Amino acid sequence: MSSTPSSDVAAFRAALASSKNIIVLAGAGLSAGSGIKTFRGAGGFWHQHDIQAVASTEGFNEHPSLVWQFYYERREECVLLEAKPNRAHHALASLSDPLVIARVAPSLEAVNSPPLLITQNIDSLSQRALGDFPEEVRKAAEERILEMHGSILTTRCTSCQHIHRSSPSNPSPLAAALAKRDGSDIPLAELPRCGGDGWAGSNRYGRCGGLLRPNVIWFGEVPEHMGEIARKLNWCDMLLVVGTSSLVHPAAGFAANVKKRGGKVAVFNLERSRGDEDADFLFLGPCEETLPQVLGV
Ligand SMILES: [Zn+2]
Repeated sequence: MSSTPSSDVAAFRAALASSKNIIVLAGAGLSAGSGIKTFRGAGGFWHQHDIQAVASTEGFNEHPSLVWQFYYERREECVLLEAKPNRAHHALASLSDPLVIARVAPSLEAVNSPPLLITQNIDSLSQRALGDFPEEVRKAAEERILEMHGSILTTRCTSCQHIHRSSPSNPSPLAAALAKRDGSDIPLAELPRCGGDGWAGSNRYGRCGGLLRPNVIWFGEVPEHMGEIARKLNWCDMLLVVGTSSLVHPAAGFAANVKKRGGKVAVFNLERSRGDEDADFLFLGPCEETLPQVLGV
């Protein structure tokens, strides 16, 4: 069943207003306006390295120093340096505001529960866009964000599996040795470890001193929250695909699932991709422009 998707804003808003269960799937395009590069677009030193070498368990086991330096740079880029949530992040965040929900999505089944945001981005900019909301609204919204590919703000202990999440405004230091940033080989003992640089053999706070790894999904690993996502998709009657091609996994599968159950799909992306013709709505352009305008927020 192929037809031309509509770019009629009024028709989209009417469909959104009657939706009971809204899910947003976000990809790299959501953060493009914040200057976040994709791994493949990462510059400089990393051009010499195969992406598999810095984004796989094998690569980490072989060269933990190299992998940690790569993620340290990404983390600085996402959190400590210039990157800030853009208008697209803020537009999606506003869907967590009860006043906005009452206006643009008054049919939501759980009125106190904002739309579910499933993101493939590891920059946690969607969480940061919630920063100005009252504590209660922010907490409820954070619980509705699923980071499929993990987050640059979190680490996982390779021994005890403890997951630590840093606050974006005050990220915990990883390891002093990483700050050198000269590409030199850092001894294993000086890489980030469970309990931090000061760990002195005590397990008193449940920190074992084991080697930490970035808590992001690498090649060959299964994305997080897949069971929960599958269950939630069963109830979804409006899927917004933002900043990712509707042709590629996982967007293609999500959209097919929602369509099969009679739901609607709206795509917000920079350019057309095959598969868009199955969407009900299509809004082309940078999503930091299209989202605020089309959502009317
Ligand atoms: Zn540990």
